[in-house]
Amino acid sequence: MSQIVRTSSCACGRVRCQAVGAPILSAVCYCDDCQAGGRQIEALPKATPVLDADGGTPYLSYRDDRFSCTSGADLLVGYKIRETAPTQRFVASCCNSGMYLKFEPGHWVSAYRIRFEGDLPPIEMRTQTKYRLADTEIPHDAPSYRKYPLKLFRKLLGSRIAMVFGR
Ligand SMILES: [Zn+2]
Repeated sequence: MSQIVRTSSCACGRVRCQAVGAPILSAVCYCDDCQAGGRQIEALPKATPVLDADGGTPYLSYRDDRFSCTSGADLLVGYKIRETAPTQRFVASCCNSGMYLKFEPGHWVSAYRIRFEGDLPPIEMRTQTKYRLADTEIPHDAPSYRKYPLKLFRKLLGSRIAMVFGR
């Protein structure tokens, strides 16, 4: 069975990552950490935006074993919003493009959707909308949740089980 392989590239093309198969989740997160982490990246010299105009961050989340950097991995630099934060956001230092984030205890990578090429899966949900500051109406393309919905944890758990059993 052939699987979809998606490529994400930094703005200048030196860093390229590859994601195999369907993502665990395609979502937009509005949590305060994602907003702070996005602003931190966008403040870097010549950075390209990672946040949507309304402060949301669209991600495609993949299992660790289905996401890898195929070129320029040595150019990746990890940023944290605080010293003790469990999450690192990896930026292509060549052009300061946010590529993906890694939540340390997790078995997945959340890659910035904006860096991907080609046909992408639709957005499934918008999460942590209680932190959304924009006064515009929230897009109705997918259900919105004030926190993380149970459905999200079920998807993560399901993907963990599949990964353990090598499926
Ligand atoms: Zn680059």
